[in-house]
Order: sequence, then structure tokens, then C-alpha cells
Amino acid sequence: MKRIYNFSAGPAILPLPVLEEASKAVIEIAGSGMSLLEVSHRSKVYEAIHQEARANCLKVMGLKPEDYTVVFMGGGASQQFATIPMNFLRPGATADYVDGGEWGNKAIKEAKGLGAINIAASSAATKHATLPRDFKWTPGAAYAHLTTNNTIEGTQMRFMPETGGAPLILDVSSDFLSHRMDFSKASMIYAGAQKNAGPAGVTICVVKKSFMATAKTDIPAIFQYAVHDKADSMYNTPPVFPIYVFGLVLKWIEAQGGLDEVGKRNQRKAQLIYDALDAHADFYDAAVTNKEDRSQMNITWRVRDVAKEEAFLKGAKDRQMDGLKGHRNVGGFRASVYNAFPEEGCAALAQYLKEFAKQ
Ligand SMILES: *Cc1c(COP(=O)(O)O)cnc(C)c1O
Repeated sequence: MKRIYNFSAGPAILPLPVLEEASKAVIEIAGSGMSLLEVSHRSKVYEAIHQEARANCLKVMGLKPEDYTVVFMGGGASQQFATIPMNFLRPGATADYVDGGEWGNKAIKEAKGLGAINIAASSAATKHATLPRDFKWTPGAAYAHLTTNNTIEGTQMRFMPETGGAPLILDVSSDFLSHRMDFSKASMIYAGAQKNAGPAGVTICVVKKSFMATAKTDIPAIFQYAVHDKADSMYNTPPVFPIYVFGLVLKWIEAQGGLDEVGKRNQRKAQLIYDALDAHADFYDAAVTNKEDRSQMNITWRVRDVAKEEAFLKGAKDRQMDGLKGHRNVGGFRASVYNAFPEEGCAALAQYLKEFAKQ
């Protein structure tokens, strides 16, 4: 089978061994005589898959099961934009939000309808071509929400700011498990699976147990993290297939040497592409010029002569490269090079960028 270079931002490339294993499970899982798509979520076969994925998620992240728990939810990361304030923003309290890009903005819009919020920092002045800095946290805030990787604009926060005591909530949808982070500084970490962790359909919510215990209980049960957690994340039918594939991705990450190794490779991969853009800065306009703000997952740029955009995409297609068109709201180009994207694909794009600039 032919695998092209898939630079899509999400749903996105998954490791081939994971796809091969998952395709077998679609026919039969664990000698059960049934497809994974057919077995009860209450069956022993599925339960083992479910609990193993929850345990391995904490293990790969370097978190202790005494302190943190994993809840699988539906509705995408976008549903979390509402579920978080529903659970943790009480009347009279304020939640801090960092406005680092379009996804952070969507989280802000949703929270505004549910309580009082403060924008602790914003990168709107640079149209999000830089990371927000100069945080102004609210003393005693209910929580502080930030997006670690701005998928659309191409910036990435690889450090965790001090919040002055407020519980930190991270939307890590587009750089989850892409490098080592001290997740124990956060009270909640969540990601839609379809960027770097699996197929669409499951949102991974890792919540500190002591934080979860402070959540509101006067909201519908289906939106309460604690209700899901109490049922081991099987309060209702979980998205069994995406969870299974997420479990395979976790094993694949461990087989690569864990987050440290994956992180090193991601850094090398992104560097190949940024170096090519910077070497031809008269021809390409890298969207993020501040090097320490640049995302290792989503690399964004423009061709200075916009008349050449179409030719660039056509040449990419001829080289078996797909998904390079930038987000519809910002235009230009974007190369998403998540964990499963191969290093030789980054080298191939770097080579193409150099050749196209010289034509
Ligand atoms: C894609 C994305 C989302 C939205 O994810 P859905 O699962 O489509 O709701 C939220 N935050 C970030 C950072 C994203 O990249």
C-alpha cells in the first residue's frame, strides 16, 4: 500500500503499525469471535482495553494514579470549552483565560456565557503570531485556562506559567504527548484525540482528583467529570473504537522510547522545515518569527508572492504531499507534523521548499 505524506492538521496521520493492529480488531478482537465494533462495552474484553488505556495514559504522562484520573468524553475538545466552566466556575468567582489564538478564543466565548472571566494575557496585538506573555492573573481565580499549542497560528508554549495559585487547565489538543512536560503542575489536561493521539470521537480528560472534588454537582450528571470518573469512565457507552486506538498509540509511544525520545524527534523534524523557510526568507514569510514561540507540530508560512500559491500546492501534490493548505481563516500554508509524521517527510518538504524558492 502507498502512504503519501499527510500533513493534515486533524484528523491526522497515525502510525502505520497502529492502523494495522486496529484494522485486525475491526474483524476480531482478542480471539472473541467478534469485532471490537460488536462487543459490549461491559464485556471483559473491552474492559481490559479501557482500563489499560487509562492506566497507560497516566504512565506515559508521568502522573500517579493516586493523584490523577482519566475520563474519556465525547463532543470533542470544543465541548470541554463549555464543560469546564460548568464544572468549575461558580457564581461570584472569576476564571482566567489566556487568549493565544483561535481555539483559546472559542474557549473564552463559551465560558463568557457561563460566568465571569478575565483575559490574563493576549497575543491579539500580533494577530497571534507570538505567544502571549505578561500574564495578569486574578488572585483566587477558579482556574486558569490556556492552550499549549495554537494549531491554526503555529505557536507553542513549551513552558507552564506560574498562575499565582489558580488551578491550571491546559488544552493540549494539538501537542498532547508530543514532548515531555511536567503535567503535575496542571489540574486538568485535555485533548481531542484526532490531532496527535488517535481518531476523532474521544476527548481525553486527565483531571487531578483533588480538583475534581471541588466541581459543582448541580449540573446535569452527563456533564460532571466526577460522575464519569466514579463509573470508571463508563457512565454511558464510551467511544470504544477511538479509545482502543488511543491505547495502541500509547503503546507505540512507549515503544519509541517514551515522550523524551518522541520529543527529540519532533524537534529535529520541525527544525528541518523551519531551516528551509529561514534560508529563503526573501521568498517565504514564516508566520512565527520569534523562534522560541514556534510550534513543533504545526508550521505556518506564506509564499511572499501570493500568485505562486497555487503552483506551490500543485508541486506538493506531484510530490505526494497532502494537507498543506493553511486554515481557512488565516490562509497561506501549514505543515502539521505530529508524532506519527515521518522524519523523511519533513526532509522531503524542506527539499521542496528550497527547490521551489529557486525556480
Ligand atoms: C482542534 C482543536 C480543538 C477542537 O477540537 P474538536 O475536537 O474539533 O472540538 C480545540 N483546541 C485545539 C487546540 C485544537 O487544535
